Formats: sequence, C-alpha cells, structure tokens
Amino acid sequence: MINNVQRKQLAREALQLSSSIRKKVGYDSFSTLNIFDLCEAIDVPVRFVDINMEGMYVQMGEGVKPTILISALRPFHRKVFTCAHELGHHVFGHGFTIDDVVRSGGHYTNEEFLVDAFGSYLLMPPLGIKSAMSKRGLDFQHLDPIDCLRISSSFGVGYATLINHLYFNGHIGKDKSENLLGTSLKSLKQSILGKSVSETLFVIDKHFSNKTIDIEVSGLILLPRDFEVENEDLLKSKTEVLEGMIYEAVSPGITRVYSRYSEWSSFVRIQAYQYVGLSRFRHLSD
Ligand SMILES: [Zn+2]
Repeated sequence: MINNVQRKQLAREALQLSSSIRKKVGYDSFSTLNIFDLCEAIDVPVRFVDINMEGMYVQMGEGVKPTILISALRPFHRKVFTCAHELGHHVFGHGFTIDDVVRSGGHYTNEEFLVDAFGSYLLMPPLGIKSAMSKRGLDFQHLDPIDCLRISSSFGVGYATLINHLYFNGHIGKDKSENLLGTSLKSLKQSILGKSVSETLFVIDKHFSNKTIDIEVSGLILLPRDFEVENEDLLKSKTEVLEGMIYEAVSPGITRVYSRYSEWSSFVRIQAYQYVGLSRFRHLSD
C-alpha cells in the first residue's frame, strides 16, 4: 500500500514531468491536448491492437524504438487515458509493461500510481482545469453532472476520470465527488438524449477551444444549435435535443464543424469503430 506522504511525493513528480513534456512539445500549461498526436510528436508510435487488455508499453532495449500498444476493444475515452498512462511508463523509464483490464486503486504499485497521476496531469493540467471552469463561469462547489460532462469532453477524458481528478486535487470534497459520481454516465446520457445509449457522447460548447475533436464511428457529439457540420456523410445529424443537435460519427475521415455566428471552428477526426493499426493512420477513410 502507498501511504499519503508517498502519494503526494509521487503526484508532485508526475506533475513536474507532465509539465516539462508539455513544454517540450510546445503546449502551454493550460491548453488541452491530443495524446495520440503528442506521442507521435515525441516519436513514440502508438498502435491500436485487437487484444483484450488496457495497454502495453513495449521497450525492447537500446536501439529499438519503444512503442505503445492500446487495446482497440476498450471504450474510446479509456483508450485516451491508457495511452497517457503508457506514455508515463515511457517517460519515467520503466521497462516493458502490460496493463491488464483490471486495475484497481487498492493494489496500486508505486509505478502504477505514478503513471496514472502523470496521465491525469498531462491530460488535465491544473491551469487547464482552472481555465475550463472560469471561462464557463463555474465554481467547484456548484458543479453539476452536465458541467462535468462538458469539461471532461473538452479534455477528451471520461466523466468519472474528471471527477476523480478534481477530488484527488482537492477541488471538490468526498461528498461532492460521491454525489457527482452518483449520477451515472448512463443516466446522464439518458437525460440528455431521452433514451439509453451505450455510445460515447461528447458535449461541445462554445468555450471548447481544441482545434480537433477525436471520435470513433458510432460516437455521438452534441453541438450547439448554431453549429454546422461541413460533411454530413461523415458526421450525420441525428436528433434535436434541448441543448442542441446530436450528431453521429458514421464514417472515418475528417470534417470541420463551425459556428454560423462566431469564429468558432474545429476539426472532427473520425476513426473506424475499434480501429486496429497505427494511430497516425487512424483518420484515413477506407
Ligand atoms: Zn501501467
């Protein structure tokens, strides 16, 4: 078991290294990032594989390029976090590592705790969290589940991953975190969509600042009503809901979404459902 002093020390190390990796690749300390692009930028190829696990960091020794393998079979947000986790094994110089599907807090080794903290800080940097909150006029004590889904969508991470990160960093207390987690993602999606779905749902608002949105075929995106999609053969409008229009990713490729009334625009990059292959080719259409 890791004690609290060790946890704090490891979390500090993780935060420091995640900040220096961000700087090295040219990201500031508050912007969101795409983990697959970042791995590519630092020459650590990522490959999606058809194996039932979370991920693997493959380091065969000097002179052989290290690689990250991610299970194509896991939910989309899980793949994102696992990739950040495996990158942690790389930057901390850990050797060959296999991360199985079951990874629970109670049996954490120091290395696993360290790289989970690294992944969390890399994807959700402290200044990024503050910025995401302040531009939406939110405060931690009054966060509601839909706010959490908006913010987790902006960082490209899962709903519970964001809430656990806010709790771990002391932004919200145990009661608030349990209260938010008490609304399951499934019921939250049901309240937005009016029906129960298992697909990933991204909630995009006008404060979303990423230049790209990654999603896989079958994934859903909620866009404000004044937003348009350039190529509906790739991202098709499905249904209108209270907060805007729901679109479904139907085919791999890249399309642009933009606002009719502002400068806002972003590229939606769609990969095949459970895409297998190198991450750099993930958005090529068939
Ligand atoms: Zn691991």
